Amino acid sequence: MRLEDILFSQGFGTRRVCAGLVQQGYVQVNGETVTDAGEFFEPEGLHFQVQGADWPFQEHAYVLLNKPAGTECSQKPSTWPSIYTLLPPPLRQRPQKAAVQGVQAVGRLDQDTTGLLLLTDDGKFIHKMSSPKHHVPKVYEVTTKHPITPDMVNKLLSGVVLDDDPKPVKAAACEAVGELHLKLTLTEGKYHQVKRMLAAVGNRVEGLHRSQIGGLVLGDLPSGQWRWLTEEDLALLK
Ligand code: URA
Repeated sequence: MRLEDILFSQGFGTRRVCAGLVQQGYVQVNGETVTDAGEFFEPEGLHFQVQGADWPFQEHAYVLLNKPAGTECSQKPSTWPSIYTLLPPPLRQRPQKAAVQGVQAVGRLDQDTTGLLLLTDDGKFIHKMSSPKHHVPKVYEVTTKHPITPDMVNKLLSGVVLDDDPKPVKAAACEAVGELHLKLTLTEGKYHQVKRMLAAVGNRVEGLHRSQIGGLVLGDLPSGQWRWLTEEDLALLK
């Protein structure tokens, strides 16, 4: 693949911009500056640097973001800054066949929710992860307004009815880990589900953090930072 096409496919701008980056000496491949934008490289497994930043070639980009509070999971946020501003421009500009460009969040977290958020430009992956048939467990750490009682935990486990559906929803796991702290595992992703479930048992969410999806744990990635997902990470989401 021509180097300018490789850069284009990874979101570095139009082919003209990509050719310009190469011709001006901003791109290194295997530690060597390449100035011929038409030079051919095998993209699979290629690592290159653009203006000093290291980039692996990837057919699709899969990233994990530790979402900070006060950010919206929308490209066109209404009130708060968009999470997409936390990502480098190439991730937001990766060309796509569909109308949307760049990586998209796999599901959404509320403005005030923090923690593990996946983003990708792989439409099939988004579809699969968002399908109601795909019951990948999501672990939430909840801070509540009122003390958590054993009765609340039992109700969350046995099922509560939310206002939009007569069918009860239940937590796959629920454990009080402090007077005002609850660890809750859900296998569905209904709108405001944690907040509505806590309201249904007479409590209120004061803080919400997603720490795990499937076997993938957020770990010590600082708030507002992102990292690539590895093959091993992706296997943990199945
Ligand atoms: N449940 C909620 O209520 N909010 C979130 O952001 C995620 C799950």
